[in-house]
Amino acid sequence: TAVDLSHVIADAVDRSKLTAESKNIKIVVGGAGTDAQVYGDPDLLTTAFRNLIDNAVRYSPENTRVGIGIRSREGLIAVSVTDQGDGISPEDQERVFERFYRVDAARSRATGGTGLGLSIVKHVVTNHGGEVSVWSQPGQGSTFTVRLPELEGRDSVDTTEPQGPAPAHARSGLA
Ligand code: ATP
Ligand code: MG
Repeated sequence: TAVDLSHVIADAVDRSKLTAESKNIKIVVGGAGTDAQVYGDPDLLTTAFRNLIDNAVRYSPENTRVGIGIRSREGLIAVSVTDQGDGISPEDQERVFERFYRVDAARSRATGGTGLGLSIVKHVVTNHGGEVSVWSQPGQGSTFTVRLPELEGRDSVDTTEPQGPAPAHARSGLA
């Protein structure tokens, strides 16, 4: 299925709105008008971006902002989620995508969660032919970037399955 990424992201942002508001965190989406289409499963992609945005809001202090950028370049669509939270140390950056890995058990217990979110993100993105990476400066925040192969413009690619009954001659056996 052709998936409109700005749609998926708007959906994912909606799900974090209440938590964000309760911490006075502003979620700003840039490049949302971009016609960014990928081939894949809309529900899985929504889950992936939901996890990234949920983390950005969860691991940020009050009165900060979460920025989401969508860019299309050289056949790839890059979506970045940037927060102004505590950041992640270089050692932990290598491990956060592992299942059940959580930085700082005490802090993580206080915020709840199972440590599965980012492993799901990685799984979904990899299965869509993409990759996910993290950049972080401890004390200044983190940026998670997802890159996915871009689907060419709607008109140039026919993504529909052949439909309808087979031609008469193929069914009758008389042709
Ligand atoms: P779950 O997502 O399953 O509810 P979780 O958020 O702990 O639980 P992950 O989303 O996989 O699990 O994240 C793993 C760990 O990486 C988190 O516990 C947290 O310590 C750290 N982390 C993830 N995102 C951020 C972020 N944006 N800023 C700071 N730390 C983060
Ligand atoms: Mg999480």
